[in-house]
Amino acid sequence: MSLLEVTDLRVSFRTADGVVQAVRGVSFSVEPGRTLGIVGESGSGKTVLTQSLLGLTPGGQISGKAVFDGVNLVGLDSRSLQNIRGKEIAVIFQDPLTSLHPLYKVGWQISEMIRAHDKSVTRAQATDRAIDLLGHVGIPRPRERVNDYPHQFSGGMRQRAMIAMAISLNPKLIIADEPTTALDATVQAQILDLLQRLQRESGTALLMITHDLGVVADIADDVMVMYAGRAAEKASKRDIFYRQHHPYTKGLLESIPNSSAAGGRLVPIAGQPPSLIRLPKGCAFHPRCAYVMDRCLTDEPALAPVGDAGEHRSACWLPSSALGPGPEAEDTRRRTVQAGRSGEAIKIAEAIAAAPESEGSVIA
Ligand code: SF4
Repeated sequence: MSLLEVTDLRVSFRTADGVVQAVRGVSFSVEPGRTLGIVGESGSGKTVLTQSLLGLTPGGQISGKAVFDGVNLVGLDSRSLQNIRGKEIAVIFQDPLTSLHPLYKVGWQISEMIRAHDKSVTRAQATDRAIDLLGHVGIPRPRERVNDYPHQFSGGMRQRAMIAMAISLNPKLIIADEPTTALDATVQAQILDLLQRLQRESGTALLMITHDLGVVADIADDVMVMYAGRAAEKASKRDIFYRQHHPYTKGLLESIPNSSAAGGRLVPIAGQPPSLIRLPKGCAFHPRCAYVMDRCLTDEPALAPVGDAGEHRSACWLPSSALGPGPEAEDTRRRTVQAGRSGEAIKIAEAIAAAPESEGSVIA
């Protein structure tokens, strides 16, 4: 049984400029001990999606279901959510410097987290536990460093302290929101190793939100690619990397270093993500898609099974057999596009082909 089952989750915000449709009917599930990577450019809705699960989107209109361990988080009162936050579901944010309070010692902040959920724990017991946790996540001399302030820790150590705080109450689910973005490559690898080790030890489920497909390649079991508030493609990590279907997923893979087909040059995705207030009609990706066809301008594709196994799903009108970067799949895509493109779609495709590379976006 899934630990978290999200069904048709929608989150929107009323603003002076109009309604921001940040999340538009997303469904997914996470099993105990497994890692789901949620990938997309900035503004794709991945952070709002996960924050809405914990009631961290004030002013947001939320609908749908998010059943965690038998409890629907959508519409749950704030006291019940407070009991779940930290204890059952922990969050690791991107920037530990802004997540840790600069005026309190690191150890105090960890022990406070423990005591906030269990009043029977004394200050001394919580401090001992904080020392154990800091040692467990690889902070050297934890008995001394427990009394340091956040500015006395390096970036990697601060993120380790955040992870110590996240695991302090043995949560069933950890949401890691870009936890390695602010770190250099070596420290990033250490943090990912640490998360994997802790997950193996405790069987915790992990929701890894990232714009970095390299992180997903390291850590995820399954991947959901988000675009304009919706899931564009969902599959196992292997299918996403070797048998991807959606042109946006293909674009993401081509825009990261070392996977470019253009002899080491990054291939940007043309254009920029759309405004979530004024979304394009039809497929939201059509103004940037090299395979745009007539029906893409009017009809929004549903997330539907592709390939031979039902677990791989994509929201795209291209044939379900057009999988992966190989020449056969490309031929299928080309023939489908030739038969399905006329008038306006031809103009959009020509504009995409002529767009300067510098105006596109890479997410690496
Ligand atoms: Fe491209 Fe059309 Fe597929 Fe959208 S539905 S990704 S525009 S081919």
